[in-house]
Amino acid sequence: AWKQFSEKVLVLGLARSGTAAAKVLLENGKNVIVNDAAAKYDDVAVLELQKKGAHLVLGSHPLSVLEGIEVVVKNPGIRYDHPIVAEALTQNIPVITEVELVSYLTQQPIIGITGSNGKTTTTTLVTEMLNQSGCNVKLAGNIGIAATEVAQTMQTDERMVIELSSFQLQGIDTFRPSTAVLLNIYEAHLDYHGDLESYVNAKCNIFKNQHADDYLVYNVDDPTLQEKVMNTKAKKIPFSATKNLYQEGAWIDDIHVYFFDEAIVRLEDIVLVGKHNLENILASVAAAKLNGATNEGIQHVLKTFSGVKHRLEFVGMLEGRYVYNDSKATNTLATQKALDSFKKNIVLLAGGLDRGNEFDELIPHLQNVKAMVVFGETAPKLERTGKEAGIQVIEHASGVDDAAKIGFSLTDAGDILLLSPACASWDQYKTFEERGDIFVQAVHTMN
Ligand code: ADP
Repeated sequence: AWKQFSEKVLVLGLARSGTAAAKVLLENGKNVIVNDAAAKYDDVAVLELQKKGAHLVLGSHPLSVLEGIEVVVKNPGIRYDHPIVAEALTQNIPVITEVELVSYLTQQPIIGITGSNGKTTTTTLVTEMLNQSGCNVKLAGNIGIAATEVAQTMQTDERMVIELSSFQLQGIDTFRPSTAVLLNIYEAHLDYHGDLESYVNAKCNIFKNQHADDYLVYNVDDPTLQEKVMNTKAKKIPFSATKNLYQEGAWIDDIHVYFFDEAIVRLEDIVLVGKHNLENILASVAAAKLNGATNEGIQHVLKTFSGVKHRLEFVGMLEGRYVYNDSKATNTLATQKALDSFKKNIVLLAGGLDRGNEFDELIPHLQNVKAMVVFGETAPKLERTGKEAGIQVIEHASGVDDAAKIGFSLTDAGDILLLSPACASWDQYKTFEERGDIFVQAVHTMN
């Protein structure tokens, strides 16, 4: 397959995927130029590429690097309107992303997962369900492991599960998952893609090369998707949290999750909370069943999996209170999803970086919130929002650890203690991960 691939390649942007792409291209005898504005000539990864024969152009992006280039492998983060990418396109040089190379490296079955939200959760669930069923799987992609690196090591009995962003999918040409999963499409990343249509089209690239014996698992409740999947060649497997699909795909009634007419797991046995997670679960069940998972394997995962870290993750019980860490909720929409996930009394811990927005959209979702603890730059704004929603008890805290303690003192047994900040963390913490870890630490020390 590599013989068909261009001989002279420009790898644009190093980072994890660029370094992996450059390495695999060099190992397969290609003439590789590496161009990165930030990397240094004495970086360990750069030195290693140089040793393998890469030609390095670092510090800037001179248009002259395009001379003689037959294909550009672009880091997904670099925009198409970047001068050098724009110039490549003007010269009709194909611009691809690293995942495209996967199709040259392995013929093993690939489960590709994309969507505006829920990718990491679904990718994790599918991988675990197959693992627990005794199937051999390897995980890669947007989740933080370069796909080409994993693709090279695939054995004949293995499957690959790849989390795919729209940025990655925009740069594919022949990449073909045997099972594609399309979770949902919301307006996102429009600054990068330019308009909604090109964003939707990038996501839909996931199934453009599929054959008639491949599967396309998709959310039939998403109107954009319903229309887009009409012209796929693959077998369509819909999932829905609202419709009965006993002849078609994955669905629920009041008691069970089903795949076609088979009851797979009881809803009351599932640890993950939230309607959005139910959609991720339905997609995962479909993808896992189509790839040989057993009902026992699926049940085991759903009975134990408490969420990807910081994403409405169930931290545990603290003297009868249910504690959740949703530090990844860096905007109001994510916090709305979290609040809608519980029918019990909630004590909400929120606040962080002030991006200038108001929080009025939260108000209709605050009915089950009996008290709030606010912190960070947005504390005064969130206090106002809480008051408008009629919440009587609103306290201020210095940070998430302090908020955990104050919040706990406001709960009764049976209540939910929820960190879902609705704001980015950078006013007080390096990352949302750090913020979540400090919260969880504080909860554990109270225990
Ligand atoms: P991604 O990898 O696509 O960013 P994650 O699985 O990390 O998605 O979830 C991130 C956040 O997105 C969650 O905390 C939740 O607020 C929201 N979310 C997750 N799944 C869905 C879904 N199916 N529909 C809508 N929102 C979701």
